[in-house]
Amino acid sequence: MTCDIISLAVTGVRGLTPYEPGKPVEELERELGIRDSVKLASNENSLGPSPRALGAMRRELGKVSYYPDGNGFALKQALATYHGVPSTCITLGNGSNEILELVARAFLQPGLEAVFSKHAFAVYPVVVQAVGATARVAPANSPEHAMPYGHDLNALAALVTDKTRVVFVANPNNPTGTWVNGTSLCDFIGSLPPTTLVVIDEAYFEYVEAPDYPNAIRWLERFPNLVVTRTFSKIYGLAGMRIGYGLSHPHIAEIFNRVRQPFNVNSLAQCAALAALQDTAHVARSRAMNESGLVQYSQAFASRQLGFIPSVANFICVNVGRTALSVYQALLREGVIVRPIASYELPEYLRITIGREEQNQRVIDALDKVLGL
Ligand code: PMP
Repeated sequence: MTCDIISLAVTGVRGLTPYEPGKPVEELERELGIRDSVKLASNENSLGPSPRALGAMRRELGKVSYYPDGNGFALKQALATYHGVPSTCITLGNGSNEILELVARAFLQPGLEAVFSKHAFAVYPVVVQAVGATARVAPANSPEHAMPYGHDLNALAALVTDKTRVVFVANPNNPTGTWVNGTSLCDFIGSLPPTTLVVIDEAYFEYVEAPDYPNAIRWLERFPNLVVTRTFSKIYGLAGMRIGYGLSHPHIAEIFNRVRQPFNVNSLAQCAALAALQDTAHVARSRAMNESGLVQYSQAFASRQLGFIPSVANFICVNVGRTALSVYQALLREGVIVRPIASYELPEYLRITIGREEQNQRVIDALDKVLGL
């Protein structure tokens, strides 16, 4: 007897489509029989992991027959000191994605709603829908706005009702690279009912240079409904290790602790993160590379009259003036992997991760060739 397995899946899951990651270098090289391709598609750190993190992992390797510390004691202590918060505020996750998922699993269910912006990070709709809750998507800023396609906090606030249990704000947002300033964000959080959790996703925090860009962690004491997420995947160069964390009132952390898997963060990830946190030189190098890379791309796009979304993160979106999918495919044939973002309703844009200067130049040269510039 055959049976329609899809109809057996829970309601929310039936309508989901899998998250599409950036194409791995190995896959492209296998498919095209080429070498030396460059991947600037998943907002990874092109300087690689911190050498101190690599050393720490090598020293830890012989101990992997043991389970990791399920409470992440050493790393939580270090993060608590680093951020000036009690360690009871911290929840470690298998990437910050896991924290987003824990929020949904612990606080959403059918009949409840989550609010986020159009063009916001793709994992928000997935985690909301997977638990059968309803997503309310607010209109984003207009293309003419100083933060084109960015979050419109008033539009988000307008969707909040007594059914809204979670609001997600990515600051800065992926894929737009736009951000919201401290005064507006603080007022927005203060305007929410205490029964609505607000998640400020700061995956790209360490890259941002803008003077009035806020650190939402400093509002934790003021707002017991606030969750801030951070990650080791971006500036710390540990995307493959899968480690991120949430900061919140200890009452919320205690709820996450009930639903997370007992050993959700592996031991190599924990020791790598601890070492990476202390490697301030690597962070500074990565930040400097990003700052000059953003200038390199912005100048290249401006001089070619290509529209782009001003970004403060480690990626930038460029308008290629036509359906970007074909440009993406032509760039693949040049050995360059970037990210088309039609799934974010920005079909004429490509998102490019900021890399090392020579990598960025390679992308710009390939774009010139493909676009006939
Ligand atoms: N938030 C945003 C805005 C992101 O862009 C990403 C990564 N693409 C994440 C969260 C999750 O990253 P990770 O799970 O690697 O920490």
